[in-house]
Amino acid sequence: TPPELIRNFCIIAHIDHGKSTLADRMLQVTGVVQPRDMRAQYLDRMDIERERGITIKSQAVRMPWAVGDTPYALNMIDTPGHVDFTYEVSRSLAACEGALLLVDAAQGIEAQTLANLYLALENDLAIIPVLNKIDLPAAQPEKYAEELANLIGTDPDDCLRVSGKTGEGVEAVLDRLIAEVPAPEGDPEAPARAMIFDSVYDTYRGVVTYVRVVDGQLSPRDKVTMMSTQTSHELLEIGVSSPEPAPSKGLGVGEVGYLITGVKDVRQSRVGDTVTTTRNGATEALGGYRDPKPMVFSGLFPIDGSDFPVLRDALDKLKLNDAALVYEPETSVALGFGFRCGYLGLLHLEIVRERLEREFNLDLISTAPSVVYQVTMEDGTEHEVTNPSEFPDGKVREVREPMVRATVLTPSDFVGTVMELCQSKRGQMLGMDYLSEDRVELRYRLPLAEIVFDFFDQLKSRTKGYASLDYDNDGEQTANLVRVDILLHGDPVDAFSSIVHREKAYSYGVMMVGKLKELIPRQQFEVPIQAAIGSRIIARETVRAIRKDVLSKCYGGDISRKRKLLEKQKEGKKRMKMVGSVEVPQEAFIAALSTD
Ligand code: GDP
Ligand code: MG
Repeated sequence: TPPELIRNFCIIAHIDHGKSTLADRMLQVTGVVQPRDMRAQYLDRMDIERERGITIKSQAVRMPWAVGDTPYALNMIDTPGHVDFTYEVSRSLAACEGALLLVDAAQGIEAQTLANLYLALENDLAIIPVLNKIDLPAAQPEKYAEELANLIGTDPDDCLRVSGKTGEGVEAVLDRLIAEVPAPEGDPEAPARAMIFDSVYDTYRGVVTYVRVVDGQLSPRDKVTMMSTQTSHELLEIGVSSPEPAPSKGLGVGEVGYLITGVKDVRQSRVGDTVTTTRNGATEALGGYRDPKPMVFSGLFPIDGSDFPVLRDALDKLKLNDAALVYEPETSVALGFGFRCGYLGLLHLEIVRERLEREFNLDLISTAPSVVYQVTMEDGTEHEVTNPSEFPDGKVREVREPMVRATVLTPSDFVGTVMELCQSKRGQMLGMDYLSEDRVELRYRLPLAEIVFDFFDQLKSRTKGYASLDYDNDGEQTANLVRVDILLHGDPVDAFSSIVHREKAYSYGVMMVGKLKELIPRQQFEVPIQAAIGSRIIARETVRAIRKDVLSKCYGGDISRKRKLLEKQKEGKKRMKMVGSVEVPQEAFIAALSTD
C-alpha cells in the first residue's frame, strides 16, 4: 500500500473507558472479523488480560476502510494502558501519526487520559477527541465534551460521540481518522529502518516482532540486524495482522506488520530498537531506544522448598516473553531458596506472580517490594541495593532513592485529603490546575518507595474511588533512610527487613511487631518480637509461652483422643517454618508482608 493510503493510529484512554470494546467494534465494522468469530476483547490475548480487563501487550491490526472509491488501510495499534508500561506506550505511540483520545462520557478525563495525551503530544500525533459510552444513562457528553475540548484547545462540537457497545458513531470515527490523521512520511529509497513497538513470544512461531517501517523496505528472506544488539537474523516470514497473521511480500514506508526470525527470546528483539537490513543497512538507529529498567524488586520463594527447580524453569519460560523481567537466585534464612526479581512496577510484579502460580501451578511467597537505592559509603564506594537485608549498617555517607513525578486527578471535594496524603508520603507539590469547576489536577514529586507501598489504595479509599493516579520516573534524590530489622527471639529475620525514612521508622517498627504478635502462635517458650535499627531496639512485643502441656487435658485416660491430638499437632507443624528456634506459620509471612 502506498503511504498516502495508510493511516496509523492508536487509542489512548484511561483504563475501563472502553478502548478494547471500541477496537472490537472497529474490527466488526471494517469486516475483518466476522460476527460469528467475534468475542469480547478480541485483541486482549492473554487470559489475565481478559480477566482483569487490562491490556498488557499491544497488538497491531490492519483494517480496510474506503472513503468513496478510495480504499485506505487503517493500522490500529493497541497500547497498554498502565503506568508500569509507560515506555511501551510511548513506543507504540511513536509508531503512529494519530490518536483517538477516548473518554468515558460518564466519567470524564482521568489521570491516565492525561498522561497518555501528554505522550501523544510529545510524539506530535494528531488527536481526535472521542466521548465513549454515550448509551449509558449516566453519560454527560455535553459536560465532558467541554472539558475535553478545553484540554486540547478545540471546539466541543469537534468531539465525536460514540458507543463501543452499540456501535453508534463508530463509522464516523473511521472517517475522521482518514480525514485528520496525516499519512506516513518516509524515504522509500533509503536503507530500511523499522521500529519495534512490540515483541511477543509464541510457542509455535518463536518471537513475533511487531514493527512500523519508517524508511525503505523489508522483504521476505532479507537478512536483518537489530541495531542496539547488532545481532543478525534471517527473516523467515513477514506479514500483517488483520487480525490473524497473513504473510505478505514485504513492508514499505509507513506500513505496520510483523516479522518472524526464529529468535527464541524477546530480549533479542526489544521494544524501541531499530531493525535494518544487514546488507546496505542504515547506520543511524531511530531515536528513543531505552533498555527496560526494573524499578521494583521483590523476593519470590516457593512455599514448598522442593518446587525451587520448577520456579526456575517457569521464570526462564516467562522471560522469553518479557524483556523487562530480571531475576537472580536468592537465599533467605527465613524462606530458603528463591529468586530476587526485578519488575517495571507493582502491576508487573502482580502479573508475573499470578502467571507463575496459574500457569505453572506454584504456591509462592513474595517479600515486600523494594525500590533500588544508591548508597555511597563514607569511604566513597558505591552500592546499589535492591534487597533491604543487604542495606549496609553503618558508615553510610549518602543514600539516594528513585523519585517519580505523579499526576493525581480528583474531584475538587477531595483536594484537601489528597494533598494530605501526598504530604504524608513525603511529596513535594509541583502544581495544581482546575480542569473544570469540579475536577482538579495535582502534580507532585514523590519517592517511588512511598507509591509502591500503599499509596494507590489510600488514594482510592480517601476519594471514594474517584481519584486516579499516573506517574513517571523523575531521577533520584537523597533521603534520610534507615534499615529496620525485625528480630524473633533475638534473631533477625531477613525477609522482614525494610528500608524506611528515619522519621517513620518508629511507627513502622511498632506496626510490624504488633502485626507479628497477632500472627505468631504461642510456643513452648516466650518469644520476644523486636524492631531494631542497627543494635538499637525501637519496638517490642512478646508472645507468651504456653504453660500447660496440651496432653495434660486428657487425664491419661482416652488413648485415641490423645493420639488425635498428637496427629493434629503434627498437621499444624507441616505448614510451619522454623526461623531460628521459632516456629512461624507460612501465613504469617504472607500476612506480615502484605501491605494491608
Ligand atoms: P478498556 O480498559 O479501555 O480496554 O475498556 P473495555 O473495553 O475493557 O471496557 C470496560 C468496560 O466498559 C467493560 O465492562 C465494557 O463492557 C464497558 N463498555 C465499553 N464500552 C462501552 C459503551 O460504549 N457503553 C457501555 N454501556 N459500556 C461500555
Ligand atoms: Mg482493554
